[in-house]
Amino acid sequence: MNATYRAIEVSKPGQFSDVRKPLLDPGPHQVRIRVEACGVCHSDSGTVEGLFPISWPRVPGHEVVGRIDALGPGVQGWAVGQRVGVGFLGGSCGYCEFCRNGDLVNCRNQEYTGIHSDGGYAEMMIAKASGLMAIPDDLSSANAAPLLCAGLTTFNALRNAPAKAGDLVAVLGIGGLGHLGVQYARHMGFEVAAIARGTGTAALAKKLGAHHYIDSAATDPAVALQALGGAKVILITASGGTTVATTFKGLRPGGVSIDLGVGPEPIEITSPDLIFGERKVAGSLTGNPATGDTTLRFSALTGVSAMIETVPLQEAAAAYAKMMAGEARFRMVLVMNNGAGESASRQA
Ligand SMILES: [Zn+2]
Ligand SMILES: [Zn+2]
Repeated sequence: MNATYRAIEVSKPGQFSDVRKPLLDPGPHQVRIRVEACGVCHSDSGTVEGLFPISWPRVPGHEVVGRIDALGPGVQGWAVGQRVGVGFLGGSCGYCEFCRNGDLVNCRNQEYTGIHSDGGYAEMMIAKASGLMAIPDDLSSANAAPLLCAGLTTFNALRNAPAKAGDLVAVLGIGGLGHLGVQYARHMGFEVAAIARGTGTAALAKKLGAHHYIDSAATDPAVALQALGGAKVILITASGGTTVATTFKGLRPGGVSIDLGVGPEPIEITSPDLIFGERKVAGSLTGNPATGDTTLRFSALTGVSAMIETVPLQEAAAAYAKMMAGEARFRMVLVMNNGAGESASRQA
């Protein structure tokens, strides 16, 4: 067996290192995965910038697709050679109060991939079997990767939202999450309004399936949504509490603003805007593995896909920098150069 594999780890905040790590056997209820692709997500900054308490060094990456290479003791339902995905939530425990109630997302003992455990900026990784998702054969690994976080997050939020077919759903932000959110909303049967600043993404938003495009730099998006009858759901995919506040009055009575974009700013909403109209503001955190399976199958069935740029693993730092600069159109995906097996056999 090859003794080491290549990984791009963060050795301290802001510093990537191209290293070789010893190949370990998966522990109980874990699998070892030969990584084929890993998306670069804005939440990777939680690791790279050290926003979470991190035990250094740490390999980031939580949009991981690969094939199971070894099963640890006690793993059931998964097979060596099977193509699987790993997302942000590293796998539920099965015994805490939330798991016992069927709420796997809020499991109290769940690790975050690439934060508490090493993620997918690597040729190999070890993952908990309870967090795995199944990759349909008709999705390539590079195309499937962004669906494991950006896709699951938007699909899950829309799927659990109160909107019904024909209702107006707004997607704020046409970026890594938003460009998927618009496609899912369209294919779920909603009337879709895309909101972004400027006219640069108007044509793209329409091409992705939006019925309406609202330029928030030129018009008040809340007024524009009310002119369309008011949104049942506003999906906030851009970070910043101000985006929630500035669009909130665009909700129809009983509508909900679902925040997916993490940012430090408080969300300033007046109580009359909440009460008169019984509007809600909510957060949504990715989704459980079964919903991940559904996200992947729904994407394959409907042709929803992320616009991606693939780069070799060793260029992870550059890919991350491009994503952080807001220059990715729209998702950077790391791919293993010559196949993980070949490079893993070259000893450092
Ligand atoms: Zn993510
Ligand atoms: Zn649990």
